[in-house]
Formats: sequence, C-alpha cells, structure tokens
Amino acid sequence: MENIFNYNLDELKSVLTPSFRAKQVWRWLYINYEDDFNMMINIPKEMRNKLHNQFSAKNLEINNIQTSIDGTKKYLFSTKDNYTFESVFLKMRDKEFDENDNIKSREKYTICVSSQIGCKIGCKFCRTGESGFTRNLTVGEIVEQVIAIKKENKILPEKCVNIVYMGMGEPLDNFDNLIKAIKIISHIDGLSISTRRQTISTSGISPMIDALGSLNLGVQLAISLHAVNDETRNKLMPINKVYNIESIMESVRKFPIDMRKRVMFEYLMIKDINDSIKNAKDLLRLLNGIKAKVNIILFNPYSGSKFQRPDIEQAKRFADFLCKKGLLCTIRESRGSDIDAACGQLKYVDSKNKNVSHETK
Ligand code: SF4
Repeated sequence: MENIFNYNLDELKSVLTPSFRAKQVWRWLYINYEDDFNMMINIPKEMRNKLHNQFSAKNLEINNIQTSIDGTKKYLFSTKDNYTFESVFLKMRDKEFDENDNIKSREKYTICVSSQIGCKIGCKFCRTGESGFTRNLTVGEIVEQVIAIKKENKILPEKCVNIVYMGMGEPLDNFDNLIKAIKIISHIDGLSISTRRQTISTSGISPMIDALGSLNLGVQLAISLHAVNDETRNKLMPINKVYNIESIMESVRKFPIDMRKRVMFEYLMIKDINDSIKNAKDLLRLLNGIKAKVNIILFNPYSGSKFQRPDIEQAKRFADFLCKKGLLCTIRESRGSDIDAACGQLKYVDSKNKNVSHETK
C-alpha cells in the first residue's frame, strides 16, 4: 500500500483521471484532513475503491501525546514499519482582543517537524544524536506529521502555522525528501503553508546549504552554530571537523535571504563551554556583515547529559552585549522542557504500545 502523501498533485493527477478528481482528493486530504477514502463523498465509488486498494492516507499512528504545563505538546508517532519518532506542537501566542473585544492578534502555532528517525550527526548535547540513525523519513511521513498535528489540535486550514524542521534528524541529510515535502506543504490548494513560514535548521552541511540556496525556494535558514571557534565546535558537533565554521559562513553569505528576514543562528548556551563575554565578542566578529539574528537557548540538562545549564544572569549579560553592539539577539524561552520536548531532547523511543495516551505533567 503506497503512502498517498508521497505524491505531489501532478503525480496524483497522473494516476487519477480525469485530473480534476485528483484535486478533489487533494482537498479532502489537505483541507479536510480526511484519512478514509470512503468518506470522500464527491468521489465516485469506483475511484474510492481504487484509492482504497492502492493507497493509504493513514501511515502514522499517534502512540502518545504529552502536554507540557506551557501547552506545548509532544507527539510520539509510529510508522508502518514499527519505528517511532517525535514531533512537537507549540502554541506561540493565544488569540488577543483589544478593549473593544475586537481581535488584536490571532493565535500563532508552530510545528516542529522531524525529518529522520534518529540522526547521523551525533551532536554531543543531543538525545536524538545519542540514539543513532535508523532511517530517513519518507516525503509522506514528513508531510503527514503536519496534517496529523493540525487535525489533532482541530486547527482550521486557514489558520497560520509555521513549520520548523528542527525535530529529529538533520533535514539536509534527507535532502530530496525534504524538498518535495516542503513543496507539498506549501501547495496553494492544500496546506498552503508558504515557504516563508518554513524554516530549515541545519547543523551546517555547507554543500547542502549551497544546494538549498540554489533552489531559491524562499525558505528560512537556521544554523545550529553553538560555538564561535572550531576547537569548541569540534567537541560539541563532530560534523564541524568536516564542515568547519568558515565553510558554513561562506555558504550562509551566498544563501538567498528574503529582504525582510534574517538568518537565524541558534546558540545553545552551555555553562563554562560557550557562555563567556569573550565568546560573545567572537560571535559578533563572526557574524559581521551577515543579516543575522542570534537565538540563545539555555541548555536543558537531561538524565545522563554531561553538560550544565548556564546561569541565566550570564546569558542575559551575553545577550545584552550583542544587542548593544547592534546584533539582534533573543534568549529563547525553552518550551516544553518539562516533557523533554525542548531542543535536543527528542529521542527515538522503542515503543510497542500502540494505544494513544495523553499525559500531562
Ligand atoms: S542536534 Fe540536530 S543534527 Fe545534532 S544530533 Fe541532534 S538532531 Fe542531529
């Protein structure tokens, strides 16, 4: 049985004739979040049977949902071949009203999508890296995470959702599937999540950043930098021995950036490793001339991790120094850390239990 979410609209048109039928099915899948072909009532019975026999629109099961005190939800998905991976749903902002009860701003959601089961990169601070690499997610599995999470949270199709490829895995290590998934997710007749709302976060595989840039898709780029010199970065991220900081910066400089946007540099701050003012000065020098934004994330210790969370006052001094020098810098609130849904905390879980359970911490 084929995963129907592996197909883009043109491919679907080539198997469903007349082609307007493909568009109808597409709308059922991406706008109505319908996973049962028999419920697609405007499709002739014969075609529904064909779809049922050839395709599956439910290729992932939600095995578990954990809800954080801040509302962040972590989903444990299982695949048809019995592997599991995690994705995260974040409600970034509630609907806000002004004094006259008019809507001032709408809710803002972000879905943190996984691209692989496990990861080859092996960053030393990351639980996913510790679990090793199992396999790439297929196009359909990447796309279906978004649909499953939107459906479970009853998010209407027209609501704004941002996608960050910051879940399990290195997205640029699953390049072809990622690119096809991005195009399907942004398709105007379906989920319609613009490429400008999709951010690819990479550990810095320079040639693949170049390849992504050459496609000029309009996606946002985030670099997991975490260190300002190769010596420290080699220790935190072994990939740096292959693609060092200089090669990453060279690729970033060439990357096509939307006029209104900046390249995000993720900086996981770890106590006594990369949190000094000297490090801040070096970071400033490194990003000189790049339209950049620095996002400081305080390391979230997990059981067995050898690093420590930095002092918040030190993080503020670090951020203040950069801001005063004119570099946009924020300390990111670490959401979902009580359910291990924060950055670097997702992991492969061997789960045989297929019952959905909701846990709240
Ligand atoms: S931080 Fe990202 S790239 Fe590094 S091991 Fe974890 S999932 Fe892979």
